[in-house]
Amino acid sequence: MAATSLICRECASTYPLEAQFVCTKCFGPLEVAYAPHPSAGDRDAIRRRIQAGPRSIWRYADFLPLEAGSPVGAGDFSSDGGLPAGGTPLVKADRLARRLGLREVWVKNDAANPTHSFKDRVVAVAAARAKELGFSTLACASTGNLAGAVAAAGAALGLPTYVFIPADLEEQKILSTGVYGANIVTVRGNYDDVNRLCTEIAGEREDWAFVNVNMRPYYAEGSKTLAYEIAEQLGWTAPDRIVAPIASGSLFTKIGKGFQEWIDLDLIDGVGGAAPKVPVMSGAQALGCNPVAAAFEAGQDVCRPVKPDTIAKSLAIGNPADGPYAIELARKTGGTITDVTDDEIKDGIRLLAETTGIFTETAGGVTTATLRKLAESGRIDPQERVVLVITGEGLKTLDVVRGTFEVTEIDPRFEQFENDVESRTEVPV
Ligand SMILES: *Cc1c(COP(=O)(O)O)cnc(C)c1O
Ligand SMILES: [Zn+2]
Repeated sequence: MAATSLICRECASTYPLEAQFVCTKCFGPLEVAYAPHPSAGDRDAIRRRIQAGPRSIWRYADFLPLEAGSPVGAGDFSSDGGLPAGGTPLVKADRLARRLGLREVWVKNDAANPTHSFKDRVVAVAAARAKELGFSTLACASTGNLAGAVAAAGAALGLPTYVFIPADLEEQKILSTGVYGANIVTVRGNYDDVNRLCTEIAGEREDWAFVNVNMRPYYAEGSKTLAYEIAEQLGWTAPDRIVAPIASGSLFTKIGKGFQEWIDLDLIDGVGGAAPKVPVMSGAQALGCNPVAAAFEAGQDVCRPVKPDTIAKSLAIGNPADGPYAIELARKTGGTITDVTDDEIKDGIRLLAETTGIFTETAGGVTTATLRKLAESGRIDPQERVVLVITGEGLKTLDVVRGTFEVTEIDPRFEQFENDVESRTEVPV
């Protein structure tokens, strides 16, 4: 399924596969268009080809926009191809399901990527394409996780990196980016200010690949691999519903694109004799940065920009580029886009951790809290098979769980243990 061109989502004008992200005719966003898969019509051949690939996103190289196909050979994790993104666990979360009164919940744990967020997927594709196009430097405008992913990819590929972040970012995210030797620039402003600055720099520095600015069409394709992996891990079926977070809306919309491509290629089986379909898509935002949820709930097609004020900093994009497409996808699939408060986010982090053993950052708290809200308000049919997409690691936003649990200090004496600790212990349900 070789990439053939960049195509405008609004007016369908096409452009060569270069570092360009907006249509010069109508200013619409560009995305990658592909020729039909060479084995279209032979689903077994396509599935075999995928299964013979490495346990990373590169097993889906036929669906990604690189000229050379996969930058790594089967089973080969050499650093020439960058970091081995993807291949993350999909775990059945029965205790979480029971707590929410649902039958079947799965957690796609993308915190298990090399730099502990789903951003390694998108960076792997953008960086590989940047190498093909001969760029000298990798860069990004980041809400936090992208900075770490770009810094690590640059280290693996031997490219210098510049990452631009809002100055008020969590310290854990700055520290876990700086170790890779990146040039870190903190900008006095919010993400939308950072993004505007980076768009300007990208126009001036022609040999810089800003993974989410001038390389955005390639970057965005990396998120499709989440859909492919979920389908493959569910035995070539699609879940009934996906609950996923929305910042710019890119991840959310590309999960939909990934499922649609595989349904069109007949790679996904329906369940119980039904025709396969794109899952119902439920988007999750924080109340303190909810431009997409607010527009969705008001029945509007476009988002009014907001000034972010939330503990979910990785989702704090006040002017989301793909917001309208996220709304369109949620509506088309009969889904939802809702928001949750900072307290609900903290509770969501604890709920996921206590029922699954998975510790997620604030973005995962948003997603888990959203699932809980949908379940408790009866907006999810209890019989559905739901996949919760957990996009980042809890150690990166440690501060928000401080004070959410108690620690008991005792003298080193048995009776104190018995009286102060054991007699007060609750058995988990
Ligand atoms: C970047 C990010 C997202 C979503 O990003 P989009 O801009 O909507 O693609 C979700 N979760 C985490 C942890 C992220 O870092
Ligand atoms: Zn256009």
